[in-house]
Amino acid sequence: MLIGIDLDNTIVCYDGVFERLASELELPGHVASAGKQAIRDYLRQQNREDEWTLMQGKAYGSRMDRAQPFEGALEFMACARDRGHALCIVSHRTKQPFLGDPVDLHAAAQKWVRDRGIDRLASVFLEETAADKAARITALGCDVFIDDLPEFLGRPDFPAKTRKLHFSPSGAGEFGGTERVGAWEDVARLLLDQ
Ligand SMILES: [Mg+2]
Repeated sequence: MLIGIDLDNTIVCYDGVFERLASELELPGHVASAGKQAIRDYLRQQNREDEWTLMQGKAYGSRMDRAQPFEGALEFMACARDRGHALCIVSHRTKQPFLGDPVDLHAAAQKWVRDRGIDRLASVFLEETAADKAARITALGCDVFIDDLPEFLGRPDFPAKTRKLHFSPSGAGEFGGTERVGAWEDVARLLLDQ
């Protein structure tokens, strides 16, 4: 089986990075510790959309090295490989942030993956648009794809033959046509326990 996996917010958990960045902006503690969506919502309510955009550029760029893999993600990949499955990571992100320092966001992602030895477990494809990401998944012929964004899994150009797993640790985002998994141990149970 060829198992395709998204990178940002599926393998990489940014909660600690966003909490730190929110603290540096002196946002209230209960907002900073409530996760990425709460931080985004708070800044939007205050008409501070640019600060949210800047924060994302830092999280996915210069501060990405502080992000941790989700619990069980690396173990799942190693176990899948041991059982003879092939793995690919297919992600999309712009080359540079929309605002802020012109950091190479693809280089930051490649370094994060390499520093954790993930490039020895999976082929890595970084695309610039969601359409290119869907085309890559089609070209690779993934049997299953795991992604945190239901709107990506629901795209009309997402390959019909690829099984969809929606990775949602918070349990949010019900979406028809996908199976929802709350943790990597659930992914392992679904895909490897047979
Ligand atoms: Mg993602």
